[in-house]
Amino acid sequence: MSRITTDVAVIGGGVIGLAIALRLRADGREVVVIEPNEPGSGASYGNAGTIADYAVIPVGTPSVLRNAVSLLFDANSPLSIRASALPTLFPWLARFARESLPRRYRQNACRIAELVSGASGAWTEFAAEIGASDLLSAKGCLYLYETQKAFKAAGADIALRRSFGVAQDLLSAGEVLRLEPRLPPFEGGGLFFPGAINLSDPGEVMHRLSTAVRRAGVEFIRAFAQGIARQSKGIRIAAAPFEIGARTAIIAAGAQSRRLAAQIGDPVRLDTERGYHVEFDMAELPIERPVCPTAHGFYLCPMRGRLRVAGLVELGGLTARANPRRIENLAANARRIFPDLGEPSRTWLGFRPSMPDSVPVIRPSRGGRDVILAFGHGHIGLTLAPRTAQMVSALLAA
Ligand SMILES: Cc1cc2nc3c(=O)[nH]c(=O)nc-3n(C[C@H](O)[C@H](O)[C@H](O)COP(=O)(O)OP(=O)(O)OC[C@H]3O[C@@H](n4cnc5c(N)ncnc54)[C@H](O)[C@@H]3O)c2cc1C
Repeated sequence: MSRITTDVAVIGGGVIGLAIALRLRADGREVVVIEPNEPGSGASYGNAGTIADYAVIPVGTPSVLRNAVSLLFDANSPLSIRASALPTLFPWLARFARESLPRRYRQNACRIAELVSGASGAWTEFAAEIGASDLLSAKGCLYLYETQKAFKAAGADIALRRSFGVAQDLLSAGEVLRLEPRLPPFEGGGLFFPGAINLSDPGEVMHRLSTAVRRAGVEFIRAFAQGIARQSKGIRIAAAPFEIGARTAIIAAGAQSRRLAAQIGDPVRLDTERGYHVEFDMAELPIERPVCPTAHGFYLCPMRGRLRVAGLVELGGLTARANPRRIENLAANARRIFPDLGEPSRTWLGFRPSMPDSVPVIRPSRGGRDVILAFGHGHIGLTLAPRTAQMVSALLAA
């Protein structure tokens, strides 16, 4: 066993752990990151790349609750469940149902709105700090409602966003097509979020982020943290072949954080919403900004040299293989919009770290500030990475 001692040990090198490591290093702390894989190669690699300062609506809403049965068991729905995972998922689902009730949904949206506000500005600064400004695009983001009925049904969400001061412009179908002329004609309308920005290559941004973290003097320990415990002289993390002693530990292991949090005395209802992407390599992209056809639960994302189609929610745990039907479904729905796409160049399955209320856990452990929990960012982890890092830095400074 090799022994390492440090001031702060960050468990998990996704966008959350890396942003925290960079920030704490800038605060003058000695930091190590424990990560068994290539840093940034988890959920942080394969997402839709949107810095979604508008994404205040939690996954659990009264409408999702009303339509839960048809949504969950329809093979073409954007929200699905693997039947084999039902027994293990039951406690998470029960809590999700409670969090989807009208009052809770509003409270959750309010907490998320507070977190995402200012995300675009924070990311612009963050990208400059890590040398990735050239990978940001500031052309806003579009929601597409293919029918007038669907557009009308979005009224409550639009009003809720307005109540939080989220910038959003209601567009007719004609106005949507003026912004994105290669979309096919449709009858409904759209929402334009002018403040949103997007990454043209999340994988490359993760590479530059981990390079910046390394250059700042953070040591990476290539290992999987199996155990965490309090001892008389700080925190001990078992990550074979290493044993790491730290004054403070940050649990930022994404969807795999639940076991570590439980070991330190913090049982949390964290699970995963599995998400997929398919990519189509192409020299000329058909859209300028991320476009979300809301009925299908995915984003069409213009990325460097390819169109990425990313999204879906599949409740089904961390170990089951990718479901080929979900991938076919994603590609087929993308081809309904752009018929010439052909077959995907590559496909991907990833694991969002998800809480039933869609609100991330960013707080000290129950036992004290020697362990900080920073996970559960669900659909907005990329968006919230700089903000999470600031919050963790403030928690340690207090
Ligand atoms: C399809 C899809 C689309 C998305 N689109 C967007 C979007 O447009 N905008 C947005 O803001 N968010 C989006 N998200 C969500 C976002 O990607 C996640 O919230 C975010 O990446 C979570 O970051 P993380 O660092 O917590 O987790 P991860 O990136 O998964 O990183 C966790 C890391 O911890 C490591 N780890 C796990 N266990 C241990 C252990 N025991 N010891 C050491 N290391 C460990 C893992 O190897 C991994 O590298 C999307 C997600 C998906 C799946």
